[in-house]
Amino acid sequence: MAKPVILAVDDDAAVLGAIEHDLRQHYRADYRVLKAGSAAEGLDAAKELAARNAPVALFLVDQRMPGMSGIELLGEVMKLHPASRRVLLTAYADTDVAIAGINSIGLDHYLMKPWDPPEQRLYPVLDDLLSEWRARVRPAFEGIRVLGSQWSPESFAVKEFLSGNRIPYEWVDLELDATARALVASLTEDLARLPVVLFPDGTHLVAPTSVELAAKAGLQTQAHRPFYDVIVIGGGPAGLANAVYAASEGLHSVLVEAHAPGGQAGTSSLIENYLGFPAGVTGADLAQRATAQARRFGAELLSGQEVVGLRREDPYRVVVLADGTELAAYCVVIATGMSARMLDIPGAEPLHGIGVYYGAAMTEAARYRAKDICVVGGANSAGQGALFFSRYARRVTMLVRAPDLESSMSSYLIDRIRSAPNIEVINSVEVEAVHGEGALESVDLKVADSGALRTIPAAAMFIFIGVRPHAEAFAGVLALDEDGFVLTGSDLPQEHGRPRGWPLERAPFMFETSLPGVFAAGDVRSGANRRVAAAVGEGSAAIYSVHRYLRTV
Ligand SMILES: Cc1cc2nc3c(=O)[nH]c(=O)nc-3n(C[C@H](O)[C@H](O)[C@H](O)COP(=O)(O)OP(=O)(O)OC[C@H]3O[C@@H](n4cnc5c(N)ncnc54)[C@H](O)[C@@H]3O)c2cc1C
Repeated sequence: MAKPVILAVDDDAAVLGAIEHDLRQHYRADYRVLKAGSAAEGLDAAKELAARNAPVALFLVDQRMPGMSGIELLGEVMKLHPASRRVLLTAYADTDVAIAGINSIGLDHYLMKPWDPPEQRLYPVLDDLLSEWRARVRPAFEGIRVLGSQWSPESFAVKEFLSGNRIPYEWVDLELDATARALVASLTEDLARLPVVLFPDGTHLVAPTSVELAAKAGLQTQAHRPFYDVIVIGGGPAGLANAVYAASEGLHSVLVEAHAPGGQAGTSSLIENYLGFPAGVTGADLAQRATAQARRFGAELLSGQEVVGLRREDPYRVVVLADGTELAAYCVVIATGMSARMLDIPGAEPLHGIGVYYGAAMTEAARYRAKDICVVGGANSAGQGALFFSRYARRVTMLVRAPDLESSMSSYLIDRIRSAPNIEVINSVEVEAVHGEGALESVDLKVADSGALRTIPAAAMFIFIGVRPHAEAFAGVLALDEDGFVLTGSDLPQEHGRPRGWPLERAPFMFETSLPGVFAAGDVRSGANRRVAAAVGEGSAAIYSVHRYLRTV
């Protein structure tokens, strides 16, 4: 733990100098002694220390200061530092005020000026108070703190971003913490804009975007070079594999990731069928290993940056980021994957992130400990999700449209689900609507055969109902299939025996899109086998085509 602070506040420079001297003499080995020359300065210092989560052991404050008395100042700072000890420095005439302060603001002690000799009149009192403080205080968390509401979707997004990028943080629920509410009120006027993210250097961001958060958290968000051999878009298994091979084979490469490395695989609680991991591997672990590997070979990884456009400026390909930055390269590999399809039913949208979740949303599992939740979907990802949440929830109800699980789920998962005592599977149902004020309360189901309606209580609903490709940014530039996936190689629509609109004599290389020099790999590619190993394989193999292309420019 960083050294706790003792803060002395007095507008009389001579008295402040003397108290600072005496405090330093005795306490400097164990405490950071700080001073402020006015009540306003003292309040600002208290706010800044609270924003840094720096422990303040003791405030030693003069009663008579212009603008704000010592008692008033202590009343304000105790909202931010309720555990700190509070001592008032008084003249004889202030004795009544000080005694009243014991009741009104929980004053621990008042000290009459002058306090000489300090060995008798200062240190014994403060030693007692400080040892009492030390006995009660818990070590403060020294990393990033997210102060928000569990019912705010923006707070959920920030937590997902930080945990996806493996950045440790402390979550503080404002509804449960009055001190944190006071801190937020001291930092922002609009209390509805949440979360407030506090950084160890004392700065903060209010409802930050991914790129702001990434930059402040120390992730790379801007490219180091003006030009690359290859730009990889998307940091899932395909993009990471591509970056590892590109960089290890000497290509200048940069990977641009909108959220967190790992992609869909990164959200999986346990991948059991990836070669070489007989006991399974968590998606987060796999993503972290792949990220470290790509970096070790020299690939740059930009985080929190979304690609919104792609242009051709022969012989270059230009990639446009959401913050307006443009990156240029000879080649681009699109590995943007896909994500869960949204459930378009009444009530779902306002509850997104606060009871209704797409995918595994693992950060939220502990919140639903001992509660009843449901999982929508009958494929492997839904099965994995149900098993994961069954470790926390009292009861997990799987809502499956098909009449059985066998047609859509691997048998090893079906066996586990059947033997889990707190998972129930309801087949042949569709979710009709969800209800809840600021939190999910119940789910309406329609039974397929009879059309009968049924309502079940649920505190959360995790949805796994199919996918949509992340290829909107390339529509109009690249040929896409009817579902919006990127067409490549021999799958490109043909005309007169060659790809329609294809400008070159040669045929497209493997994984090459309708725009020469732009490749697609992994789940975003039309016809891809949507598995981790397949994405890694495609991402790796696409580099062979990149090399072939580079020989032509
Ligand atoms: C919950 C779950 C469990 C799964 N379990 C397994 C399993 O056990 N075994 C298995 O083999 N497969 C499993 N899969 C499937 C597997 O995870 C995917 O097939 C694989 O992740 C696809 O990799 P990808 O790199 O092609 O795409 P993705 O993993 O989808 O990664 C794409 C990345 O691109 C980023 N991105 C998207 N658009 C942009 C943009 N415009 N700009 C910048 N970045 C962008 C995304 O943020 C994402 O990180 C699971 C999937 C899920 C959802």
